[in-house]
Amino acid sequence: MGLDEDALEYHRIDPPGKLEISTTKPTNTQRDLSLAYSPGVAAPCMAIHEDETDAYTYTAKGNLVGVVSNGSAVLGLGDIGAQAGKPVMEGKGVLFKRFADIDVFDVELDEADPEEIITAVKMMEPTFGGINLEDIKAPECFTIEERLREEMDIPVFHDDQHGTAIISGAALLNAADIAGKDLEDLEIVFSGAGASALASARFYVSLGARKENITMCDSSGIITEARAEAGDVNEYKREFARDLPEGDLADAMAGADVFVGLSIGGIVSQEMVRSMADNPIVFAMANPDPEITYEDAKEAREDTVIMATGRSDYPNQVNNVLGFPFIFRGALDVRASEINEAMKVAAARALADLARQDVPDAVVKAYGDDPIQFGPGYIIPKPVDPRVLFQVAPAVARAAVESGAARVEIDIEDYEEELEA
Ligand code: NAP
Ligand code: MG
Repeated sequence: MGLDEDALEYHRIDPPGKLEISTTKPTNTQRDLSLAYSPGVAAPCMAIHEDETDAYTYTAKGNLVGVVSNGSAVLGLGDIGAQAGKPVMEGKGVLFKRFADIDVFDVELDEADPEEIITAVKMMEPTFGGINLEDIKAPECFTIEERLREEMDIPVFHDDQHGTAIISGAALLNAADIAGKDLEDLEIVFSGAGASALASARFYVSLGARKENITMCDSSGIITEARAEAGDVNEYKREFARDLPEGDLADAMAGADVFVGLSIGGIVSQEMVRSMADNPIVFAMANPDPEITYEDAKEAREDTVIMATGRSDYPNQVNNVLGFPFIFRGALDVRASEINEAMKVAAARALADLARQDVPDAVVKAYGDDPIQFGPGYIIPKPVDPRVLFQVAPAVARAAVESGAARVEIDIEDYEEELEA
């Protein structure tokens, strides 16, 4: 059977889907039930009525994330609608559970208007410890996230933007090091100026790249000041408009140190890779087909091309599952009010550091026994590496404490030990 048939069968087997709710307290006796529900449940209700933070003590709020989507940019499938996006949101729930033991309610909203979505999500604040926005198209996703971050008191994180930014940012830290270049000197060219590209460009600046060294291209070519002045680009793209002559991606890539592809497959030629600076960094992350294949990019040059893609069948897979479960784990465990820039940077640095450590045998075996060692072929940890939890969650929690986003004090070393137990 092919993958499609297997996937349909996997989802269809009774019970349909891949998640269910289960209870965490005894429910056997009449007494148990009168504690779980009326009349006993009134006691925690009144405790929370007096002090809202008691919701974290007496309800599942503190370990519950809302995965919210309107289905307007689902995977590479496009605007397939809220209902059709549900298998993806349930899948996100599976990943949260499997990698960080976080529970998820997936919430599919049949709505295109950002204002309506903002209103709906704000109303759900009592339910959740955090909100993972998912698969909402650009540029609406920017407005929705910005507003919810301002107006809500729990973390709101659009994974398609920041997950990608953080994982590829970790890869960039290590790739620059291997190429012997400083982040602040890197000339970086983006293909794509959508949700993931704009967030990544901003995030690389947080990591130390210089905004004036970033050139962004969309489907009409380089985003220039002239285009911005002509009103040809939205306000989010305008942030990266550069004082350059009009040109296309090939013009932009000549001499660049880094290519970041978050657009569509097959649009970069070997010639374009050959035009880049020495030891170029090529992150071709369009899914499922990268902007240039791994083989073509590697073959294009005599020197080392440091290559990453979104694919699991090549080295250096930029996979968001390396981020969101552990970022939310750390944020929830200190009851963070937000996931701020310091927490994102901490996550990227923790991932980058982990790739420099020796890889345990179990991880090597899971990937077929070839040695895995820090270098051009291994710049970010493997998604199944259990150490990611122990490294990223505490790093995020620590950054939350230091930046003032945490609402409980914890001892980070005790916390690390608890996670490993
Ligand atoms: P998006 O918001 O729809 O943005 C797509 C961008 O690509 C737009 O700016 C679009 O230009 C641009 N584009 C389209 N055709 C182009 C062309 N021929 N040349 C240059 N740019 C072109 O999508 P997204 O969510 O950011 O995702 C973009 C891609 O990255 C997808 O393939 C996605 O699967 C991949 N991705 C991978 C990862 C990962 O590997 N971890 C994570 C996130 C996204 P206009 O603005 O002019 O329309
Ligand atoms: Mg997504």
